Amino acid sequence: MDQSITIKAQLLNIDGETASAFRDTVLMYRDACNFISQYVFDHDFELHQAKLNKALYHDLRDKFALKSQMAQSAIKTVIARYKTVKTQLSQKPYRYDTGKTDSKGHAIWSQFSRGLSWLWQPIFFKRPQLDLQRGRDWSYKATTNQLSLNTLQGRKAVDFACKGFDQYLDESKWKFGSLKLLQFENKWYVHLSATISLPDFQASQAEHVVGIDRGLRFLASCYDEQGKTLFYSGQKVLRKRRKYKKLRAQLQAKGTKSAKRRLKKIGQRENRWMSDVNHCLTKTLIDHYGKNIIFALEDLTDVRFATEKSSKDRRYEMVSWAFYQFEQFLTYKANLNSSAVVKVPAKYTSQRCPKCGRIRKENRNHDLHLYVCDKCGYKSNDDRLASMNIQFLGTLYRSGEETPQFNKQASAE
Ligand SMILES: [Zn+2]
Repeated sequence: MDQSITIKAQLLNIDGETASAFRDTVLMYRDACNFISQYVFDHDFELHQAKLNKALYHDLRDKFALKSQMAQSAIKTVIARYKTVKTQLSQKPYRYDTGKTDSKGHAIWSQFSRGLSWLWQPIFFKRPQLDLQRGRDWSYKATTNQLSLNTLQGRKAVDFACKGFDQYLDESKWKFGSLKLLQFENKWYVHLSATISLPDFQASQAEHVVGIDRGLRFLASCYDEQGKTLFYSGQKVLRKRRKYKKLRAQLQAKGTKSAKRRLKKIGQRENRWMSDVNHCLTKTLIDHYGKNIIFALEDLTDVRFATEKSSKDRRYEMVSWAFYQFEQFLTYKANLNSSAVVKVPAKYTSQRCPKCGRIRKENRNHDLHLYVCDKCGYKSNDDRLASMNIQFLGTLYRSGEETPQFNKQASAE
């Protein structure tokens, strides 16, 4: 199995000439991406690299002065973005009220999946950026410990800072891929992709299965077969989120141009801070449990957060984004540490008694955060209970069940 990661590095000691070459190139490249995006939009969402190349190559060279490889990269970047949006659209189907009601008087909703034709305008590339291909457009110079990057004004060699970069230079393990150049608050950065080939994970040989329930009160409640429960409190996160929310509300009320700018800055800062939280938390989990672990998480696509009423709520977006990011981080860190993440259906994980298997919604008291089984009397904190059930599904996966899940009928005997 191949695992790719993104290495981030800041570029250092950049002279004026290099900075101006970078700026010219990222702006031109960004404009080229928008030019390609317009073409894709006007041509029935054509996403075939060779066809786009044939249609656009000369314009990309003449109008934007892109070199051959850069033109290819720009097309690739646009295709990748459209494909991502396509996946996102299909995952958020269009729902509408049919105007009919069922026997209980509830409205009947209908839904169908969306495609790229739902876009009203071409995807817009706002951020100046540049994608470079390894070997052709960028390389690492071992003699001077520099990166050599291609620009519209030729090659530029630059110093860079990246903690632990040495480990990626071992060619028997890591292979570098493309490089993205970007500017942020007057500093230049590169995002480098690197891939490692890993032996396939053998689920049956996992030493432990850890169930992880993600939530707002506890960022992660973890349970393993030795019965240990670890809670990572979300209190600090909730407090900080509230602080950000208040700030946003104040700025939104102002509504001035500078308030809008600050609002955007704050949003970016909040995202960076949340990424740090997720990095620390996933690292702690990996270090704590060691190698040969199956981490079971509930599948986010079926998760509804009790406190989130509307999916349009910014808070909902933030929480689901943060949970998704947690999953991404944990997955690659687990893979790099001879472990794996499996996703199990969230259905009934907070309604099922882990002792006798009874599934009953009313056994859970939301206000007291307590689950009491009406059949066998088992009692547990409800966050812990969900992680126990998720862990149980993980053990089924270890024993060979490909899609472990709970079944209400089977539990109702
Ligand atoms: Zn029970």
